[in-house]
Amino acid sequence: SPQIIPEQVHQIPRKHLDDNAAKVVYRLIDAGYEGYFVGGCIRDILINKRPKDFDIATNAHPEEAHELFQRSRLIGRRFKLLHVRFGRELIEVATFRAGHDSIKNEDDVKGKQSESGLILRDNVYGTIEEDALRRDFTVNAMYYCVKDHSIYDFTHGYQDIQSKIIRMIGNPDSRYIEDPVRMLRAIRFAAKLDFTIEAQTAAPIKKQAHLLQGIAPARLFDETLKLLQSGHAVTAYHLLKEYHLLEQLLPSVGKALKAQSEHPLMETLILQGLKNTDRRLSQRKSVTPAFLFATMLWHPLQTRMKELLKQNPKMPQLVALNSAANDIIAQQVKRTAIPRRFSTPIREIWELQLRLPKRFGHRAELLLEHPRFRAAYDLLLLREQSGESLDNLGQWWTQYQSASAEEREAMVAELT
Ligand code: ATP
Ligand code: MG
Repeated sequence: SPQIIPEQVHQIPRKHLDDNAAKVVYRLIDAGYEGYFVGGCIRDILINKRPKDFDIATNAHPEEAHELFQRSRLIGRRFKLLHVRFGRELIEVATFRAGHDSIKNEDDVKGKQSESGLILRDNVYGTIEEDALRRDFTVNAMYYCVKDHSIYDFTHGYQDIQSKIIRMIGNPDSRYIEDPVRMLRAIRFAAKLDFTIEAQTAAPIKKQAHLLQGIAPARLFDETLKLLQSGHAVTAYHLLKEYHLLEQLLPSVGKALKAQSEHPLMETLILQGLKNTDRRLSQRKSVTPAFLFATMLWHPLQTRMKELLKQNPKMPQLVALNSAANDIIAQQVKRTAIPRRFSTPIREIWELQLRLPKRFGHRAELLLEHPRFRAAYDLLLLREQSGESLDNLGQWWTQYQSASAEEREAMVAELT
């Protein structure tokens, strides 16, 4: 039975609970079902962060809930959900689910685990308590009830929020085997919330990091962005490295880190890039995965390029670069499926690194108009900051951009 945290204790201001999500809850209750605010939103409100989105849990089956909401859509196969739309806002409604221990029949079509224990399908419905126990971390498993305004806490998540602890529900070893992405989620929440990963929750990670090789690259791409583009990338990077997960997400970076001597500047460059990303996000500026990956894979690209040029010294630089880019990207997409709308810009950002030094005639003027100029210039500055000696090329381009037409001509003429 749950620990019930009354309103006088948790003191969540009612206005912090999203109006539209509340409408969904009341509609469910009016129709005779249960409905609760659950998961990340309760966790975030308790630590005074604004929730990214609001999730609702109910005992109504997805199809039953679907009938109650005009603007709703059933989604997902692996995990069936209902999306209820309010203008631009999306409320996610999930039916209580049971964990996999409660599956009696192995061939049950609703829930399915592979021989190794990986969850393949997850549509076995259950009670609120079972639903709490199949969630990942205690801080993600609290239910807010709008009837009495209390929190139902089946896993001592409230206590862990106060102690700033990420603790796996149940046996960490088997919960990571069920879904290895939980290792990345542990790191993500530790970084985002500035919480500590509890010892037993942390213990199996290094050993089991390799299990990420069984996860779909598209899912790993999404998780990588959540880790590195949510404002806490520097912390996340250090944790990923500490727990041997970085080499799973970015094998070429992991390999280069082990052979430190090859790339003394690589990690400095990556950290500068991540620091910039964090700063931009805190200023509500945009960030793009293309720039992130172009920065992280810059040094592995250099290594590959050198190999190719060693094999074939007559190969033109640009040809070597493009061929190396193909290899590095092909290798990377096996782990994190980078969509083409990002991999093309990555190549362009890299190619521009070779073109930015060539400024004679009209070239500088043309480069400035390249759609990827800004990102390429930013990478150039980062490379210089990280210690690559580039003859003050970054400074030249900084000056050039703010110069008048005549000054620009003079700058180009001065090049020897
Ligand atoms: P965020 O702020 O990033 O949205 P969140 O906690 O809401 O954090 P979601 O990925 O939106 O995370 O998931 C919603 C809830 O579903 C989680 O709080 C957790 O209870 C549960 N959950 C999500 N992914 C898993 C998983 N892989 N294993 C177990 N439970 C999960
Ligand atoms: Mg969420």
